[in-house]
Amino acid sequence: MYDYLIVGAGLYGAIFAHEAEKKGKSCLIIEKRNHIGGNIYSALEEGINVHKYGAHIFHTNDRKVWSYISEFAEFNRYTNSPVANYHGEIYNLPFNMNTFSKMWGVKTPEEAKAKIEEQKMTALAELAGVSADDASGKNGPEAYAEAKKKIDAFEPKNLEEQAISLIGTDIYEKLINGYTGKQWGRPCTELPSFIIKRLPVRFIYDNNYFNALFQGIPVGGYTAMVEKIIGDIPVKLGVDYLEEMKKAKADGVEHPETLGLAKKVVYTGPIDAFFDYQLGALQYRSVRFESETLNIDNYQGNAVVNYTDAETPFTRIIEHKHFEFAQRYNEDGTPMDAAADQADPKTIIYREYSAEWKPGDEPYYPVNDDANTALYEKYKDLAAGVPNVIFGGRLGEYKYYDMDAVIAAVLKKAEEELN
Ligand code: UDP
Repeated sequence: MYDYLIVGAGLYGAIFAHEAEKKGKSCLIIEKRNHIGGNIYSALEEGINVHKYGAHIFHTNDRKVWSYISEFAEFNRYTNSPVANYHGEIYNLPFNMNTFSKMWGVKTPEEAKAKIEEQKMTALAELAGVSADDASGKNGPEAYAEAKKKIDAFEPKNLEEQAISLIGTDIYEKLINGYTGKQWGRPCTELPSFIIKRLPVRFIYDNNYFNALFQGIPVGGYTAMVEKIIGDIPVKLGVDYLEEMKKAKADGVEHPETLGLAKKVVYTGPIDAFFDYQLGALQYRSVRFESETLNIDNYQGNAVVNYTDAETPFTRIIEHKHFEFAQRYNEDGTPMDAAADQADPKTIIYREYSAEWKPGDEPYYPVNDDANTALYEKYKDLAAGVPNVIFGGRLGEYKYYDMDAVIAAVLKKAEEELN
């Protein structure tokens, strides 16, 4: 009999198990896939650490989280600075003075702000109940100032309004609208504004995508990091928990959710699947990768290039080696020397396609719109009825968590649970 049965060997499950063992509790981790790590799983291919379920760039402002995770990996100095390709026009991300100067030829923050204000005033006037002439300044500076006050106070109701209010219409049309529509499979008018608030807007020449004090990629890959977190805790791969729970129910096992193996369960799979979708299915976005290995040294000159137009069917291309400054590794993990690298150059790219999740696909992103959020709340009520199961992580809590937020959440939960 274990103290905890941990369902899912991703970051949440691994850290919970680690913390529980530290407190003298026994744990068994079971995992449906044939590897640990969940969606941060990486594998060495052609000497390159490939992020098999999409790019993961660790970043945080939380010193506690940073010092915790640094026990399990050394992080390199990778700084995410993606590039956007809009029909062949190249722009820097996130939205900063490099983007603005390329878009409009402006040189100073003042000029960039004026451009954004002009576009915002025109686009939002009607929504904010302001006349076009007041908003354009035609009716004089006083009317303009009144109009500006109203437009600044206007509460954006969706992602489109939020984006225009932050950054104006040109950037919205070229760098946001198409990309977001592809990623979420919904128009920006039907998406919550918080999604875009993840992205910084800066009036300095700074292409660092994250406002984070700490950032990097674990040297040796994410899988090695999760291995270290799990340590000697037993892991059973290829076990489908939900199937096992059904069997346990059929066999009349008391508390079938524990499979008769443990006192408590930490479940990190989709919360709606746990309850057999009895209230209906939550929506997720899934991602499909088209992988290509090329016999060249450098394909796109950057780890991440976003294709922000609506016509290109994929959302972005990831060139994995650039997460580690093009360093390749030997099978034993030692760095490949330059001569061997150049004698047989390789790079691996992933074209990333976004798709609506359907049963059998991997869920990646919860769709936190009103309908799904309301349905999740109902599942949460059901979860309260099984107090011996802790629901955690991106899927268990139906939350668009970044890795650092997962770590903060599991450490908090572990503290409440284990103290
Ligand atoms: N986004 C965009 N254009 C871009 C990159 C991002 O409009 O070139 C928007 C899009 O709505 C996306 C959100 O910003 O869903 C968050 O992007 P992020 O890169 O944080 O998403 P993730 O890396 O988690 O997929």
